[in-house]
Amino acid sequence: MHNHPVLIVGQGLAGTLLSYRLAQRKKEHKIIDQGVSRNATQAAAGLVNPITGRYFTKSWMFEDLLSSLDPCYENLEKLLKTKFKKNIVIWRALNSIAQENQWALRMSDPLYEGYFSHVGSINKQLPYFKGDLPYVQINHARKVDIRNLMLTYRAYLKNKDQLIEKSFNYKQLHWEKNTWQYQNQRYSAVFFAEGYQAIHNPYFNYLPFKPAKGEALFTKTQVKEDIAIKNHLFLAKETNGTFWSGGGYEWNIDDPKPTPKFKKDYMGKLKAWLKEDFEVMDHKAGIRPCVKDRKPFLGEHPNKKKLYIFNGLGTKGTSLGPYFSNHLLDHIYDNKPLRPEVDILRFS
Ligand SMILES: Cc1cc2nc3c(=O)[nH]c(=O)nc-3n(C[C@H](O)[C@H](O)[C@H](O)COP(=O)(O)OP(=O)(O)OC[C@H]3O[C@@H](n4cnc5c(N)ncnc54)[C@H](O)[C@@H]3O)c2cc1C
Repeated sequence: MHNHPVLIVGQGLAGTLLSYRLAQRKKEHKIIDQGVSRNATQAAAGLVNPITGRYFTKSWMFEDLLSSLDPCYENLEKLLKTKFKKNIVIWRALNSIAQENQWALRMSDPLYEGYFSHVGSINKQLPYFKGDLPYVQINHARKVDIRNLMLTYRAYLKNKDQLIEKSFNYKQLHWEKNTWQYQNQRYSAVFFAEGYQAIHNPYFNYLPFKPAKGEALFTKTQVKEDIAIKNHLFLAKETNGTFWSGGGYEWNIDDPKPTPKFKKDYMGKLKAWLKEDFEVMDHKAGIRPCVKDRKPFLGEHPNKKKLYIFNGLGTKGTSLGPYFSNHLLDHIYDNKPLRPEVDILRFS
């Protein structure tokens, strides 16, 4: 590639990790970002949960993802002199006989060895919850404060004069003299990482995005311990001491704002679960860049040279981001093949 810098469009979690990976390779770059108001990263818990769903299924590529994410976030902590990641266990309620049976099945599967420990009542250890359900501990989980990571990294980029705080105008991008020209600057390559707003990107809007709005409440509760616990919803302790509870899949994405309906619904669920009162401190919404086949979008545009996409992190950006940001750059700069499941050529 030429000696011109690279341009990244979007600085949510995806753009942040791409920037960090480019810096690791000493590739000069700039990022353009229009702000966090519609951004998914600012609403997320940053949970890395190895076992999900009603069948207690191990997440796709979990071991590979884990071995990439630990050093990645730890190095970012060193660079930004801030703690973002903690190793956690997730307490998960077995709230039906079907779930108990499913869990028992997994316990006997050698592929799941080490992923579960302790099952039983939590009332003595964590006396905050109504009822006496058995809970199982899920090991090898992480919680990364990706909101704070993104914001701290934004300040770092600004300080190094690498951040352009504007909306990217696709009409002003032109291919000239073997480089991409944008507002009087030439770039050797352009990486798009706009999250769900890539549906407005004329080069990549043919990809099957399925954006899903989610919301989160941040509450002050009586729970003293630094835990992540799940029954019909999650309670996960944030860096600032509040508890994150979020979720929801809303396919109508015209209104990116938090809704009273979600707040009422989640407050009802929390009241049904917690013995003591709680206080809602904040309420956020974000739109996840989900994909129909639930795999990320990586690769070069099929007809436009040096125009790349890093997107489709969906509901699992915290675990997918570190591995796949590196995977994309390995492909571009070291000619390594892309995994076919994530290569955008699967949709050509
Ligand atoms: C309620 C909720 C809970 C979640 N919980 C978790 C969780 O626990 N664990 C997990 O791993 N994931 C979770 N996620 C998913 C996670 O948030 C996403 O996977 C991840 O944040 C996606 O990052 P991104 O950078 O692709 O997109 P975004 O965070 O949306 O960032 C995209 C950025 O691009 C910018 N941009 C877009 N278009 C333009 C343009 N034309 N010009 C300039 N800038 C532009 C936007 O302003 C934005 O800053 C959750 C999401 C939500 C909504």
